[in-house]
Amino acid sequence: MSNDEPLLCWNCGGGLESIPVPVSRTAYCPGCRADLHVCRMCKEFDKKLADQCRAELEDVPHEKQRANFCDYFSPSPNAYVVDDDSQARAARAELDALFGVESGGAGQAPGESKADAARRELEALFGMDGEEKKTLTPDPSPRGRGEK
Ligand SMILES: [Zn+2]
Repeated sequence: MSNDEPLLCWNCGGGLESIPVPVSRTAYCPGCRADLHVCRMCKEFDKKLADQCRAELEDVPHEKQRANFCDYFSPSPNAYVVDDDSQARAARAELDALFGVESGGAGQAPGESKADAARRELEALFGMDGEEKKTLTPDPSPRGRGEK
């Protein structure tokens, strides 16, 4: 009865109605695949504290964004805090959805070329393509080539 409030993903702010409560240690956000049994999702999480935890634990999980075994874990409906970092993540999660890459496995390598393409797509979406970059101008007569 204590879990009436809808949970939002601490990472992307997406709804977690489909996540069974209590949140399992292996649960992850359907939107951004962030682990949910994490400090960042917990009511005891407090950015202002040195160990970022209000609960008096002997072993505070160091990885605030990775699934932990903490017994004190209690998901907070206010876990989603908008800051630059999470906004960027959210945008990226949205992009991932746009590009349909969510069918990948657990191992997602940060492909630079994909990120670059995503950024271009983002700029196009936001109409930031005011300046045209012509970096691919082919040079028919390359200099510096010693002709005999
Ligand atoms: Zn998420």
